[in-house]
Amino acid sequence: MIPYSRQSINEDDIAAVTAVLRGDWLTQGPAISAFEKALAEYSGAKFAVAVPNGTAALYIAYQALGLKEGDELITTPNTFVATSNMALALGVKPVFCDIRSDTRNIDETKIEALITKKTKAIVPVHFAGHPCAMDAIQAVAKKHNLFVIEDACHAIGAEYRGKKIGSLSDMSVFSFHPVKPITTAEGGAILTNNEDWYKKMLILRTHGITKDPKKTEAIGKWYYEMVELGFNNRITDIQCALGLSQLKRLDGFQAKREAVANRYFEALRGESRVILPVRLPDIKHSWHLFAIQVKDSSKRKAVFDYLQKNGIGVQVHYIPVHFQPYYQKLGYGKEKYPNTEAYYAGALSLPIYPDLTRADQDFVIQKLVEALDL
Ligand SMILES: *Cc1c(COP(=O)(O)O)cnc(C)c1O
Repeated sequence: MIPYSRQSINEDDIAAVTAVLRGDWLTQGPAISAFEKALAEYSGAKFAVAVPNGTAALYIAYQALGLKEGDELITTPNTFVATSNMALALGVKPVFCDIRSDTRNIDETKIEALITKKTKAIVPVHFAGHPCAMDAIQAVAKKHNLFVIEDACHAIGAEYRGKKIGSLSDMSVFSFHPVKPITTAEGGAILTNNEDWYKKMLILRTHGITKDPKKTEAIGKWYYEMVELGFNNRITDIQCALGLSQLKRLDGFQAKREAVANRYFEALRGESRVILPVRLPDIKHSWHLFAIQVKDSSKRKAVFDYLQKNGIGVQVHYIPVHFQPYYQKLGYGKEKYPNTEAYYAGALSLPIYPDLTRADQDFVIQKLVEALDL
């Protein structure tokens, strides 16, 4: 099977992990802060907090900014359910904004009309690794005094106007699942330039527990205080050692993903039966996904099935969140998001990952054209 994405693990990655296994710390040791420091340096942000997955990262980011019951945030339905689920988990209402049909990112011109007195944040998702129109989004946020939390789970390594994704907003969230640009098996991180939020997130990651040096001196070394309601959202040193090693390889991964994307563009340039992704000026795409649309959406299922039958693990990103039964029960079914729904109807993610061979990619292209001929 040729999957739509997969990790690339080399001997350096393996050596980094086994070195931790032979050492003293499996968790809460030095590999975590080393990974965080490297993430912050790579992305140009001041601080990073590593956590067990991107979903926990979203939750902690929302919680650290004080989002709570009765608040609203604005995001897109063309995302993985976690983006809005973590709002719901805090009692925050996700308000969906339709996408642009070119980038499949939140339509920055439609955000302002959705802002109410309850709106606290905008959560743009850099779909497939194409950065959102951040200047316009920041301008709306500034005008209405809203936080911006980037769901950058697809986009570590991507750039907007010459700046790395991760440093541009109040918070940016990464995922390190094996299909994402770099992996720690499961893993995630929140990046911020704000020291107060950074310190709060360190506390939230570990049960909301803090140790005040003055109090421990006065009362005793055992003493700690729980000041926020938090979970155990600690990542391990084993994972962070892998992350540190993967981060060194990220630029190489990106170059390979871009080469795969360029070959698709070349091979499918004259193919009128599909819509290819776009690359707007002033951005660097991370190519987490190569998502095309089958123009005649009535054929998408047949194309999908034919490719799967031939061992090509194509996927569909994403089923619009407001189509999910849980969201429908909450009343989300009534509103229409025409661009999101039209994109979904033809959506098909082709395999793209650093170790995809030329021969395998040629096979994907050949089978895709066969499927379109069906
Ligand atoms: C992967 C992903 C998440 C969740 O990350 P996990 O590490 O799987 O929890 C959230 N949002 C988007 C857009 C994602 O792609």
